[in-house]
Amino acid sequence: MLLLERGALGGGSTAKAAGGIRSSFTSRVNVELGLRGPAAYRTFSRDFGTEIDFRRDGYLYLVTDPADVPAFEPCAELQREYGVRSHLLDPGEAKKVLPLVETDGVRTAWAGLYEMTPDRNQIIGESVLLSRFFYATGFSGHGFQLGPATGELIRDLYLRRRPAVDIAELDVRRFETVDTAPAEHNIV
Ligand SMILES: Cc1cc2nc3c(=O)[nH]c(=O)nc-3n(C[C@H](O)[C@H](O)[C@H](O)COP(=O)(O)OP(=O)(O)OC[C@H]3O[C@@H](n4cnc5c(N)ncnc54)[C@H](O)[C@@H]3O)c2cc1C
Repeated sequence: MLLLERGALGGGSTAKAAGGIRSSFTSRVNVELGLRGPAAYRTFSRDFGTEIDFRRDGYLYLVTDPADVPAFEPCAELQREYGVRSHLLDPGEAKKVLPLVETDGVRTAWAGLYEMTPDRNQIIGESVLLSRFFYATGFSGHGFQLGPATGELIRDLYLRRRPAVDIAELDVRRFETVDTAPAEHNIV
């Protein structure tokens, strides 16, 4: 295996990630890949001997545009199919979950570059032009949590095993046509 790195290992977006881990995505493939993250991070300190302060707090999306609400309803249903405890709340219920929800007290912010693809989905696969050249990039802001699943996928592709999750729709050739799969809606 040949690793080319122009800077320091982990010095790219990964060093800037908030470390949020979730399965609240729009597509089946992302929900399935997302679920593999917590499984790895939960036992990370034991497996790798490094404490990562893993906590299960949950995600709360605040939808401010009523036009966005219909897009969230089928997503929550899809996520529940996979056992994710995803629910739509009205503003009053959201306030009960997180009483300090106003942003008046925001004191700081951080920034970094998101590597975006046109459909806000990652690009994972093996090149058809260059044998044994694998790519896993373009995570569009959700690549930290998909790291463990991506490692498994690349391992399986390398070993010519069928990956546990069908990732055909993540192949780079999807951009060769105009009609690509629906874009991931739930990005942060
Ligand atoms: C502010 C911020 C918050 C985020 N929060 C979250 C979050 O809560 N949860 C989540 O899942 N994701 C989050 N992300 C997204 C996540 O960090 C990225 O999707 C993920 O880290 C991408 O990993 P990567 O290995 O593809 O890229 P990187 O970590 O950027 O690694 C790419 C590497 O390639 C090297 N490189 C680039 N070009 C070349 C070249 N030509 N030759 C050699 N080496 C090269 C770079 O030096 C770099 O080390 C966040 C991102 C940002 C910026």
